[in-house]
Amino acid sequence: MSIKNEYLQGLMDRVIARNPAEPEFHQAVREVLASLSPVVEARPEFIKEGVMDCLVEPERIIKFRVPWEDEKGNVHVNRGFRVQFNSAIGPYKGGLRFHPSVYEGIIKFLGFEQIFKNSLTGLPIGGGKGGSDFDPKGKTDLEVMRFCQSFMTELFKYIGPDTDVPAGDIGVGGREIGYLFGQYKRLRNEFTGVLTGKGLTYGGSLARTEATGYGLCYFTSCMLKDAGRSFEGSTVVISGSGNVAIYACEKAAQFGAKVVAMSDSGGYIYDKNGVDLALIKRLKEVERKRISAYVETHPEAEYHAGCSGVWRIPCDIAMPCATQNELDLDSAKALIANGCFAVAEGANMPSTPEAVDALQAAGILFAPAKAANAGGVATSALEMSQNSMRFYWTFEEVDEHLKKIMTDLYHNASSAAERYGAPGDLVAGANIAGFLKVGESMLAYGVV
Ligand code: NDP
Repeated sequence: MSIKNEYLQGLMDRVIARNPAEPEFHQAVREVLASLSPVVEARPEFIKEGVMDCLVEPERIIKFRVPWEDEKGNVHVNRGFRVQFNSAIGPYKGGLRFHPSVYEGIIKFLGFEQIFKNSLTGLPIGGGKGGSDFDPKGKTDLEVMRFCQSFMTELFKYIGPDTDVPAGDIGVGGREIGYLFGQYKRLRNEFTGVLTGKGLTYGGSLARTEATGYGLCYFTSCMLKDAGRSFEGSTVVISGSGNVAIYACEKAAQFGAKVVAMSDSGGYIYDKNGVDLALIKRLKEVERKRISAYVETHPEAEYHAGCSGVWRIPCDIAMPCATQNELDLDSAKALIANGCFAVAEGANMPSTPEAVDALQAAGILFAPAKAANAGGVATSALEMSQNSMRFYWTFEEVDEHLKKIMTDLYHNASSAAERYGAPGDLVAGANIAGFLKVGESMLAYGVV
């Protein structure tokens, strides 16, 4: 993934120098700048007017202390972050991630990606992301509530329904959003749509839970259709067993595919008969257990410790839905050797650049995260609309909107790729289409 334009290569060098020791952020920026060379060559004003330099610098980074007390009375201190990256086309929008691996570089990479993803949805939302190095795993509900309340006690100063609207991500699901929203409401004394992914009894949207996984399958279906293929009768491997993975599995199965493997950070299960999704949902959404428990009731299935082996299972379609850089070059080679014909990214940046290059060079259909997993944030924007209207749509209505958004998004990315000389390259197409709307808006504002 090389940057052909000299100015953009220089900008990349400056990004690395100004943001040392943040490899995930560098990776995300490099991928976008590599795609934008033909755009700035056709439209040099994006460089001349400073748009490119502003694009790689967050508008604001908020970093704060989050002290909380566990059930034994011990005090812990975590770090909280919110990166408000770009508000050119709407209020900052993007999830909160609670995971021990979180540091400023992870939040910056996610916030940067979010700018283009949000733009691709066609909805008026800017890019932001936040989180903490807090690990909800193994904590009691009371401890999670105390942490969330402490986190929001600082964050509430910087967000609002027209300013910045966070949502969930890894480690932040319905339980955490409930505690965060409750604390915001108490501190501000107002009931507004300041968070999305809310429970259905207090302003959440139907189909938001399913949206990222379903949207991933809608997007992938369009890509497969253009290549004369479909989910019907195909074998699918999915990594992860969280929100995105579960609903990708559900929709892929509804489309006639057989999902044979899923994973968590401990290992993966392989069930050649097709995974029992009802059991996965119970283990993960209700009992909060490890995926290894699957084989206790399904002795015909296999459990393997470690994550990367999941890509060695023969499949037609691979959907990485766990975390960044989980699919490396060796995994890509194994997928190619086993005859896989499509990779669709549900997680953010789950494939390493070397893996993406190898998959594309081998002619594998490749759906990049920025476009393919945009269904979650798109439905979050629909939740914001419903909150503003104080009126709610049915599941079917939201799902119809989602389908249309993902179909339009696919065609938008695919035609941008064609227009800028990279037909079939959805990585380039998504970056270009996502950028153009943001870039045009930034030009219109002048130097701000
Ligand atoms: P969840 O927390 O619900 O699930 C995450 C899943 O990934 C779990 O199975 C988890 O296993 C696994 N996982 C997490 N970290 C690692 C790791 N380092 N190695 C291997 N497996 C890991 O998160 P989501 O499903 O919400 O998010 C998954 C991905 O999708 C993330 O990249 C997120 O940014 C992206 N995404 C999510 C959206 C959403 O709407 N939720 C929207 C768009 C993108 P374990 O339980 O063992 O930790």
